[in-house]
Amino acid sequence: MIIVMKAGVSPEQLAQVTKRVESLGLKPHVIEGTERTVVAVVGAEQDATVSGMETLPGVAKVLPILAPYKVASREVQPEQTVITAGPLVIGGGRVGVIAGPCSVESREQILASARAVKAAGAAGLRGGAFKPRTSPYSFQGLKEEGLRLLAEAREETGQAVVTEVVAPEDVPLVARYADVLQIGARNMQNYRLLEAVGRCDKAVLLKRGPAATVDEMLLAAEYILDGGNRQVMLCERGIRTFESHTRFTLPLATVPWLQARTHLPVVIDPSHGTGHANLVPSMAAAAVAAGADGLIIEVHPDPANAASDGAQTLDFTVFEQTMDTCRRVAQAVGRRMA
Ligand code: PEP
Ligand code: MN
Repeated sequence: MIIVMKAGVSPEQLAQVTKRVESLGLKPHVIEGTERTVVAVVGAEQDATVSGMETLPGVAKVLPILAPYKVASREVQPEQTVITAGPLVIGGGRVGVIAGPCSVESREQILASARAVKAAGAAGLRGGAFKPRTSPYSFQGLKEEGLRLLAEAREETGQAVVTEVVAPEDVPLVARYADVLQIGARNMQNYRLLEAVGRCDKAVLLKRGPAATVDEMLLAAEYILDGGNRQVMLCERGIRTFESHTRFTLPLATVPWLQARTHLPVVIDPSHGTGHANLVPSMAAAAVAAGADGLIIEVHPDPANAASDGAQTLDFTVFEQTMDTCRRVAQAVGRRMA
């Protein structure tokens, strides 16, 4: 349920409400909006608790939360969440761009990528250090050495580092180096991993599982939010369908659908979403036109020789052209590239 507090509620009244919620074995999430403060109550609540809450001082009204996801819902927080990590801003009418190689391969490769994508306007630098590969024989990433190289690149360019964490026990290590923790598509429903990033103070980019519904993605986000981490962005990276002309099928209707139901910003990954570099520029522009809050794009100095995902990776020149197009599209739809 949502407990809507009266305007000008005192901290004592708020504390009384959260204490009462806890005494019922439920969990309160206080959300301070620009117009009102609400307490989202999660847990297996009974109807009887609702009437009890309405009588507490400072309470304006008590409403049920209709969506299966609670803290992620627009019902609980009408204003969009804006995520800021260093210079990277995702949400609030700004389109934040995260770009870089699929995997960190070497010092030269990540530094050259960071410089090029920053010059083209990407405030976020991506690069996998821990790679979740379909085959155990494929390149698994440079691990901590990769994290160190990403941090070195950030030192020079000032970009926010976005990198994947694949196991709960690695969260403290990756969080020491990264500004944004990426949860990969294969791990969207790894609930212990979601809980671990929920306890951490870094923003999270949650990718949609290729066979997950959007409701399942929102419930996965709910695990992170329920852990106390409110800095969550959702990433549509394509789903598996009967189609084979693209690596995955990239449904852009997800953008306005999600934005109507959740306050969490929505990022599009046209690289994994298509699997083909020649399709990425159009789908990046289409994502911006659809109102995406951010883009994550794979870029490499030499895509043909990339250690992973070369076929869907842009070179520096095409990335720069893509950014120019996206900037013009953003302007046309009343948004701004961050
Ligand atoms: C990646 O971003 O390189 C990646 C592995 O993505 P996904 O989890 O979407 O497959
Ligand atoms: Mn990749």
